[in-house]
Amino acid sequence: MREGEVAVEAPPPRDAGLVFIGRIRTPWTSRDDTPRQGSLEGPVCRLEIFDPWKPALQGLEKFGNLEVIYWLHLSRRDLVLQRRHNEGEPRGTFSLRSPVRPNPIGTSMVRLVGIEGATVLVRGLDCLDETPLLDLKPDRCQFSPAP
Ligand code: SAM
Repeated sequence: MREGEVAVEAPPPRDAGLVFIGRIRTPWTSRDDTPRQGSLEGPVCRLEIFDPWKPALQGLEKFGNLEVIYWLHLSRRDLVLQRRHNEGEPRGTFSLRSPVRPNPIGTSMVRLVGIEGATVLVRGLDCLDETPLLDLKPDRCQFSPAP
């Protein structure tokens, strides 16, 4: 923890019934080396989709940009005030996109590079290798229901 940060006694996590639909493979193995936010010019990362979810990829290839939702599994979950690197005043967790939050869900808008079997290739991520994948959705701006 940094000076000025505040942790609380967080209630024990309850099972929200989430299933990990896959695993994200990225070049980053240390949090310090991982970008704070992804870039569409960043490296290609692989979303490995687990059985039985592969058929759920059908139609995804029509979209150029996707929203990726993931579980920042190594985050602590009890800070209510946090200080960003090199920033003076602590700030409330809900005013930050920090991975440290009661439910460490991360989201990124990414560019779809390709789909190889049960693996989706994207650019634009900012998570550690082996981060659990929660969901994939088309970019809501591009979503238009079929006529
Ligand atoms: N783009 C997402 C968002 O805005 O919701 C996440 C942003 S968060 C600032 C990205 C940082 O989380 C990375 O720089 C790294 O320090 C940390 N991180 C990445 N993967 C993680 C993981 N699996 N567990 C814990 N921390 C992680």
